[in-house]
Amino acid sequence: MHIAPKIRGYICTTAHPAGCIQNVKQQIQYVSNQPSIASGPKKVLIIGASTGYGLASRIVAAFGAKAQTIGVFLERAADDKRTASAGWYHTAAFEQAAHQAGIYAKSINGDAFSDAIKQETIALIKKDWGGAVDLVIYSLASPRRTHPQTGVSFKSCLKPIGEPYRNQTMDMISGRLSDVCIEPATPKEVADTVAVMGGEDWMMWIEALLAEKLLAKGVQTMAYSYIGPKLTDRMYSKGTIGMAKKDLVATGKILQHRLRPIDGQAVIAVNKAVVTQASAAIPVVPLYISLVYKIMKEKQLHEGCIEQMYRLYADRLYRTDRKILVDAQGLIRIDDWEMREDVQQAVAALWSKVDEGNLATVTDWVGCRHEFHKLFGFEVEGVDYSLPQVAALPIPSLNLPI
Ligand code: NAD
Repeated sequence: MHIAPKIRGYICTTAHPAGCIQNVKQQIQYVSNQPSIASGPKKVLIIGASTGYGLASRIVAAFGAKAQTIGVFLERAADDKRTASAGWYHTAAFEQAAHQAGIYAKSINGDAFSDAIKQETIALIKKDWGGAVDLVIYSLASPRRTHPQTGVSFKSCLKPIGEPYRNQTMDMISGRLSDVCIEPATPKEVADTVAVMGGEDWMMWIEALLAEKLLAKGVQTMAYSYIGPKLTDRMYSKGTIGMAKKDLVATGKILQHRLRPIDGQAVIAVNKAVVTQASAAIPVVPLYISLVYKIMKEKQLHEGCIEQMYRLYADRLYRTDRKILVDAQGLIRIDDWEMREDVQQAVAALWSKVDEGNLATVTDWVGCRHEFHKLFGFEVEGVDYSLPQVAALPIPSLNLPI
């Protein structure tokens, strides 16, 4: 079977097995070339572990700190007509590499918002670890959530609040620039986005793990957020997704309190903007990302998910002095290089100069489009795309009984 990208809007409906495997190998290689994280975690649960920041977190935990990992995600297996999703192939490759290196890795595929998947995860932790989880990463990005207690389904949306928002936006694939006017969210849309991407589900996970006494003394739990510059704030930090992130931060404070009896900590890491399946879907943000990539590459500050997550673990969360480095608001800022004044000034100066004629030189659109293809295993260096592929790759641990 030969597999080509089939792109619809901002998603690709096919994924290339060998390309996804190579992506994971490259990330493992990067981490293996860094100093190991001596005081890192030992037993890590990652919720949203198959792509983007969650996958990179899992790779850093396993290959940077030799941690055992359980990863939860929602991915599609291959069938007669379709390839598996990229996260499926990433996990197959990750587990294989971890097992070869003698590192425990098991995975659970299903809806992390449901009680059933939480119970399945708890059963696996009890059986294999007997508890003692010392890090819980919450890295979900989802367009919808069904509430496990009420059965009500919520859809998140990416909209401004209050006034309509006009700006230019970019199609990451075609490089087409257009002016958009996005109508403000209704109060229900704001509330629904908070229900999907806010902190309630993170809290439910931690409460479920606490109730079963599966968290180690001194456990850390960390969720990911984004703030970004003024340029995108109507769409991001002051928009519907920003309200959800505020709720996540507020949940972190409650969890901090809840974990005190076991000396635990709940933290939010504010990560930099990177090309992932989640960020490609946000209006206006891809144009900003293509500008910030350009400037950060020129200043030799560029990082993708794996470089960010390694720096997060090594320089913020598991420092040799054992202090967690946070700002005055108690947030871990690993977006510090993106938010540097010189970087933001350069981006703002270019924003109004961009047009379709100069997009490829003024911005790093070409690099971002390449990154977008790589998310699905296409255009990955070192892969021979003329070779036929087997689409039905197994994830080793999914076939094992719990
Ligand atoms: P992503 O789309 O690459 O990954 C999302 C993960 O969530 C995948 O593993 C997917 O399988 C899983 N998932 C989605 N719905 C699920 C469900 N119902 N049940 C189980 N798993 C499910 O996203 P990402 O960009 O890595 O984002 C992860 C987190 O990082 C989000 O909180 C996001 O806001 C944050 N963040 C992203 C950026 C960015 O630029 N991409 C920047 C800062 C912070």
